[in-house]
Amino acid sequence: PAAFLSSDPIIPTAALTSEIRDALRAIVGGKGFIEDEHGMQPFVMDWRGLLVGGAGAVVRPASTEEVSKVVRLCHEHGIAIVPQGGNTGLMGGAMPWPAHTGIVLSLGRMNRVLDVDPVGYSMTVEAGCVLQTLQETASQYDRFLPLSLGAQGSCMIGGNLSTNAGGVQVLRYGNARNLVLGLEVVLPSGEVWDGLRALKKDNTGYDLKHLFMGAEGTLGIITKAVLKLWPAPKDVCTAWLAIRDPRAALEILSEAHSASEDNVGSCELMSRSAIDMVLRHIPGTQDPLKAETPWYLLLEWSSARPRRDGTEGMAEKLEQFLADQLEAGRVLDAAIAQTVGKSRNMWRIREGVAEASRAEGPGLSYDVSVAISQIPEFIDKGTKAVLDILPSIRPYPLGHIGDGNLHFSFMGPVGMDQQTLAQYKGAITRAVNDLITSMGGSISAEHGIGIDKLDELSHYRSKTELDIMRTIKRALDPRNIMNPGKVLRL
Ligand code: FAD
Repeated sequence: PAAFLSSDPIIPTAALTSEIRDALRAIVGGKGFIEDEHGMQPFVMDWRGLLVGGAGAVVRPASTEEVSKVVRLCHEHGIAIVPQGGNTGLMGGAMPWPAHTGIVLSLGRMNRVLDVDPVGYSMTVEAGCVLQTLQETASQYDRFLPLSLGAQGSCMIGGNLSTNAGGVQVLRYGNARNLVLGLEVVLPSGEVWDGLRALKKDNTGYDLKHLFMGAEGTLGIITKAVLKLWPAPKDVCTAWLAIRDPRAALEILSEAHSASEDNVGSCELMSRSAIDMVLRHIPGTQDPLKAETPWYLLLEWSSARPRRDGTEGMAEKLEQFLADQLEAGRVLDAAIAQTVGKSRNMWRIREGVAEASRAEGPGLSYDVSVAISQIPEFIDKGTKAVLDILPSIRPYPLGHIGDGNLHFSFMGPVGMDQQTLAQYKGAITRAVNDLITSMGGSISAEHGIGIDKLDELSHYRSKTELDIMRTIKRALDPRNIMNPGKVLRL
């Protein structure tokens, strides 16, 4: 499935005997144990439909206690475990390798909100809660959970924390790591680490929760989390801007911070080609502007202060700001969403890109980051480098520009199939990642490493960094049963 890797990593291959199957079934009950091929299918194929893995069974525990018992049993018998949330990850982290003979451990049945503390601005949840459900729960308490991404209707909070997900609100609130006060984790031995504390301040030695966030399930299974909440936005204004070029986007954002009184919520860069692809494939989306230029910005300002009659709200402030930016020549045309429906349409276009690209055909996408000011230079040089290798490839860059994060994406040339495109993948990946590294950037901004970037991580990270990572992995998971062959080759 991942022909571009130099070789498959070595993973434990202990099989599930009938005794172990019976023991697992006894822990999680009939509802929590799937072993027929048809039932396992959604758990062994990734969101893009590109990777198909193997599994002896899918195990769906309903409590921390059950997770702990399952892991303890697997640890005892050297059975490999692939933790899985909503299976929306784009790097193959939740996909078992084809040679995997162990279990996929799906957190989907652990989906209870255990506590909401509106006074303390926190909520305690199980790992299998769907992100959107948590956003809705917070809003019922007039609070805001800022983590927001295109897959929010199906990704789960445990997966979000394990990938340290980003999304469209990082600019203001930080990535998933920033939204967590405490965690409960089942370690590869089956032991439960109870770090489920709701403390803002806690300088008692190493901050262990940060080990597990972004670890992509290689160090343990996150079973519960205490999340931070914020005041619910009350005055929100979304605008769609046709802009001069990516440099103008940076200048607009830089001025927007003070003009909005530090109320910029999101700032998303999109290329015309990305927008056209969404309009082609996502039913009901409409182009917000008549102007056709190569670059656009989706800008959203939001404040927790309710709008009062007679006072200037976000809409008036944003309108004035856009008029100034038009005059400065950075903005060529702009539309402010006057209704919730119009704002939704703008967001649907931005968030529909992944879905639209899946429908369009084979492609390549690089989730990279550089210092914000270097984005225009990276786009220019990177596009040229890729076109030099495959001149008919079709770029459709976009990104969370305020975070210095680009989804540097390409559709294959018209008519080119996946296998043929894969032949160019090695050379293109090397060119993109060499460039991003030479500019001091990161080869993975928010999607992680998984299977997809396994070789890339070991190529670009220093020996010192890789040694530290391996030491941590071996200390916590000496039998290498926890999501083996992901992130690191041991
Ligand atoms: P999964 O895919 O199930 O798992 C991801 C990784 O976490 C795997 O390595 C898995 O083993 C591990 N894991 C899952 N649950 C646990 C657990 N409880 N304990 C330990 N390990 C666990 N990502 C962004 O960052 N920003 C975006 O804007 C964004 N937009 C997206 C838009 C679309 C349409 C899609 C399909 C994906 C997008 N993603 C984005 C990627 C993906 O949604 C995120 O990586 C998300 O955080 C994954 O959550 P999940 O529950 O689906 O995890």
